[in-house]
Amino acid sequence: MNHKGIKAFPDRIGRLAEVAQDLTWSWCRTAREAFRRMDYPLWRDTSHNPFRMLSRIAEDRIEWAARDPGFLALYDRAVAAMDCLRASDGSWWAANYGDLKDFSVAYFSAEFGIHQSLPIYAGGLGVLAGDHAKAACDLGIPLIGVGFMYPMGYFHQKIDETGWQVEIYERLAVEDVAVERVMGSDGTPCQVQVPVGHGVVWVAVWRVRVGCVTLLLLDTDVPQNSPWDRELSSRLYVSEHEARLRQEIVLGVAGVRILRALGLNPVIWHLNEGHAALVIFERLREMAEQGESLVSALRKVRSTTVFTTHTPVSAGHDAFQFHLVDHLLSGYWETAGERRNTLLALASYGDGHSRMFNMTALALRGAEGVNAVSRQHRDVTQTMFGPIWSGAHDEVPVRAVTNGVHLETWLAAPLVELYDQYLGDGWQERQDEPALWDRIQSIPDEELWKVRLALKDNLLSFIRDRARQRWTSEKVNACQVVAAGTLLDLSAPLICFARRFTQYKRPWLIFHDPARLARLLNDPRHPAQIIFAGKAHPADEPGKHSLQDIYRRAMDVRYAGRIAFIDDYDLHVAHYLVQGADVWLNNPLKPLEACGTSGMKAAVNGVPHLSVADGWWPEAYSGRNGWLIDAGPGADDAADADALYGLLEREVIPAYYDRNEYGVPARWLAVVKESIRTIAPRFCARRMVKQYAQDFYVPMTRRLHADGVRGHEP
Ligand SMILES: *Cc1c(COP(=O)(O)O)cnc(C)c1O
Repeated sequence: MNHKGIKAFPDRIGRLAEVAQDLTWSWCRTAREAFRRMDYPLWRDTSHNPFRMLSRIAEDRIEWAARDPGFLALYDRAVAAMDCLRASDGSWWAANYGDLKDFSVAYFSAEFGIHQSLPIYAGGLGVLAGDHAKAACDLGIPLIGVGFMYPMGYFHQKIDETGWQVEIYERLAVEDVAVERVMGSDGTPCQVQVPVGHGVVWVAVWRVRVGCVTLLLLDTDVPQNSPWDRELSSRLYVSEHEARLRQEIVLGVAGVRILRALGLNPVIWHLNEGHAALVIFERLREMAEQGESLVSALRKVRSTTVFTTHTPVSAGHDAFQFHLVDHLLSGYWETAGERRNTLLALASYGDGHSRMFNMTALALRGAEGVNAVSRQHRDVTQTMFGPIWSGAHDEVPVRAVTNGVHLETWLAAPLVELYDQYLGDGWQERQDEPALWDRIQSIPDEELWKVRLALKDNLLSFIRDRARQRWTSEKVNACQVVAAGTLLDLSAPLICFARRFTQYKRPWLIFHDPARLARLLNDPRHPAQIIFAGKAHPADEPGKHSLQDIYRRAMDVRYAGRIAFIDDYDLHVAHYLVQGADVWLNNPLKPLEACGTSGMKAAVNGVPHLSVADGWWPEAYSGRNGWLIDAGPGADDAADADALYGLLEREVIPAYYDRNEYGVPARWLAVVKESIRTIAPRFCARRMVKQYAQDFYVPMTRRLHADGVRGHEP
C-alpha cells in the first residue's frame, strides 16, 4: 500500500499508517483516542485528520508512542477493532446471510460524508450516504460505494460584516487525505473512457477504505482530458445543464465501467438519488452487446436495481432537454439502432412541452426496489410520480425506508460511557432493539443532567475558541464576535436551527413577530437563546438574503447577544451542535422535507426535537419525546410561528427552568430520556441498513438465484 508522505514507524507500531488510512477511525473511539494522545496540539491543528497528522509528526513523538504502555494498549485495541471491521466474519451479515456467496452491492451516490477531512459532500444526502456505508461496514455487508473525488468540491463559508455569505473554495490536497490511486494490472493508474458527445472523457479512480467497505471515487482530472473535462468532477452539482449531465454520465456510465475494469461484479445496484440513474442505461447497453433483447435486459436490470428517492421538491429532480441528452449520448446510439427511442422513453416524463428526460423517472422505471426516505415522503412520492405507475402495478410501488443516523459517529463520548454503564456491554450490536433502550429510565437524572451540561459547556467553549480565532486572525469586528455566540450562557435553554439556508426550510419563521421573540429571549427570569448555522447554496440568492437577515439580528442589540450564527456548518460543527444544544428546531414548509436527519442526531444525544409534522417526525413523535408545532391543517407562516412561540412560552422554556431540590429539571429530563429511548432504536443507521438488506438486497438476490436455477432446467 502507498502511504505517501507518511514515514515508516517502528515495528511495534508498524500498522499505524494503515489505521490512519482506514476511515473506520472516524467512529472508532480507541483509534481516535490514540491519535489524540500521540500529539494533541497537532491533532487539533490538522482538524482531527490522522493521515495529515502522521505526515507531520515529530520523531520524538513517534519514539514516545512506540514505548508508552498506555499508548500501546490503545494502539493494539485500535488495530484489533479495524481488523475486525475488515474481516467481518463474526458480523450480522455473515451470521444471517453467509449463504449468499459472492454477494456485493454497489451503492452509487454523488456525495459521501464520512469525515470532514474528506470533503466530498454538500449536505444531508452525503452524510446519509456516509452513515449508510459506515453501518454497512458494522454489519459486515460487502458494499462498494461509487462516487466522485471533488478536488474543489467544497466551500468554506465566511460571513462578512454586512452578513453576506462569502464562499472560499479550497483545493483538496490529495496527499493530506486517506485516499489512494487505484492501479490497473499493468501498474499504471486504472482508467476507463466514456463517450460524451462527439468525444470521450477519461476517468481515473481513487480508493477509500472503510473496513470491509470500499469507496471508489471517480476523477476526471487526468492529462488526456481537455481542460473543461478535467474540471468535470471538480465541484459538486454544477448548475449549468450540460456540465451537470456530463457529470451524471461520468457517475452512471464510468461508474459501471470502473467496477468492470476492477473485476467487480456487484449483484445489487443501489442508486442513491437520481444522479446515478444512467447506471441503468449502461447495464442495458452491456447486455445488448451480449445479444440480449431489450425486454429481457430491462427485466434483468430492474430485478437487481434499488432506487432511493430523496426529495419531494420538484426542482430537486434532475431533468434535461431531450436534444441535450441525445447529443451527449450520441456515442451510444451508434450501436443502439431502434432501441434508442425505447431507451429515451424510459426517462420521459411530463406533459406536452414540459416533457423532459427525467433522471428520477428513469430510475423509477429501471428499478424494482424503490423507496422513499420516510412514510410521509413515500405517500408524497407516490402522488408526485403517480403517472409512472398508473395501472401497471397492483402493489404499492414505493416503500418507505426511513433514514437513520450512525450512532457511533454521532453520539457524544460521555453519553456513550453512560450507555455502556446502563444499557450493558454490547449494546451497540443491539442498538436497533427498542426494548434495550427501556433501561435509559434507570440512569439517575443527576448523572444525565451533568453530562448534558458538560456537552453544552463543550459547545460553548468551541464557539468561543472559534470566535477568538476569527477576531484575532481575521480581524472581524466586535459585533461579529458577539454574533459568533460569545455571549451565550450555560444556564439558559439553547435552541438550535442548523440546516441549509433554503426557503422551504423557513429559517426566518421564528422572526415572524420580532417583538414577541425579543420578549421571549430577554425574559429577565427565564431567558432563552438561539443558535443558527448553515450554508446557502452559492447560487441561491434568497437563501443568502435570509442568512444575511438572521446574521444582522445576531448583531442587533435588541436581542442582547442571545442569537448567534455559527459559520461554516460542516460535519465537525454539526457534532458540537447536535451534542451541545438543548432543543433542535425544525420548521420546514410541509411536505417539503423528505426526512431530515439532523434532528435524529440531536435526539439520540438527549436534545429533543421541536418540529412541524414533516419528514420523519410524524412517525417518531409520541406526545412525550419532543414537541410538535401544530397549527392545524392549511396553516400559514403566521399560524405556524404563533404555534411555535406558544410551545416555547408555555412548555419548552418553563420545563427547562422547573428545577427540583437538587437543581435538576426533572420534567425536562423526562422528555430527554423519552427522546433517547424511542428514537435511538428506530432511527439509527443500523436499523435502516438492515431494512435495506431485508427488504431489498436479500430477497432480490434470492429471487435471482431461484430464477438462475430454474433457467437451467430443461
Ligand atoms: C445531518 C447533516 C445534514 C442533514 O440534516 P437535515 O436535518 O437533513 O438538514 C446536513 N449537513 C450536515 C453537516 C449534517 O451533519
